[in-house]
Amino acid sequence: MTRTEELLAAAAAAPGFMPADEGRALYEAARAVAVDGPLLEIGSWMGKSALYLAAAAAEAGRVVVTVDHHRGSEEHQPGWEYHQPELVDPATGLLDTLPSFRRTVHPAEDLVVAVVGRSEVLAPLWSSPPALLFLDGSHTEESARRDQDAWVGKLAVGGTLAVHDVFPDPADGGQAPFGVYTRVLASGDFTELPGTGSLRVLRRDR
Ligand code: SAH
Ligand code: MG
Repeated sequence: MTRTEELLAAAAAAPGFMPADEGRALYEAARAVAVDGPLLEIGSWMGKSALYLAAAAAEAGRVVVTVDHHRGSEEHQPGWEYHQPELVDPATGLLDTLPSFRRTVHPAEDLVVAVVGRSEVLAPLWSSPPALLFLDGSHTEESARRDQDAWVGKLAVGGTLAVHDVFPDPADGGQAPFGVYTRVLASGDFTELPGTGSLRVLRRDR
């Protein structure tokens, strides 16, 4: 098995919400990027999508940077649809996905840099243009817009923007990522590349 095959297999087996076909498409999008730079993910959760990105990073000599406060999004909190009680740290009473993240990403530790913190706090400090930006953080209208405003302009020209959980039909899911995708496309600066499921892929032309 090559390193990439190993990481793809680990990604497929990892816990998380990224369906196999969308994870594979994220990997393909990352390996197809033609410009230099890191692969930057907003929203690490337990590291599944970071491993798909790491599989591409291994081939291209890139690094993956992934940002999360590891306290979960709105839908992961107690009483919400995606809450997992076993993820609550008894010492703080708060969700903590960092231990699971570390376990998942272990085979790619040399390729993945984890930033533990809020994306809106990191953004103003960040100046290295990402070759690929994967937006998969909080999906409220306000926070999705905030991540768009904070990060999309940093993407390298010729780089790739991937947006997860894009559902054009409200019956299928929340509309915030779809809003991001729609606004980015309407800017005229991006060309849409083939997507898979709820994963949309756009190339920055200028
Ligand atoms: N990309 C992951 C899933 C991410 S789930 C995968 O496919 O495997 C969304 C994540 O965004 C959660 O882990 C949550 O903690 C994180 N998040 C939500 N708001 C955030 C913020 N403001 N800054 C950093 N991370 C945030
Ligand atoms: Mg997602």
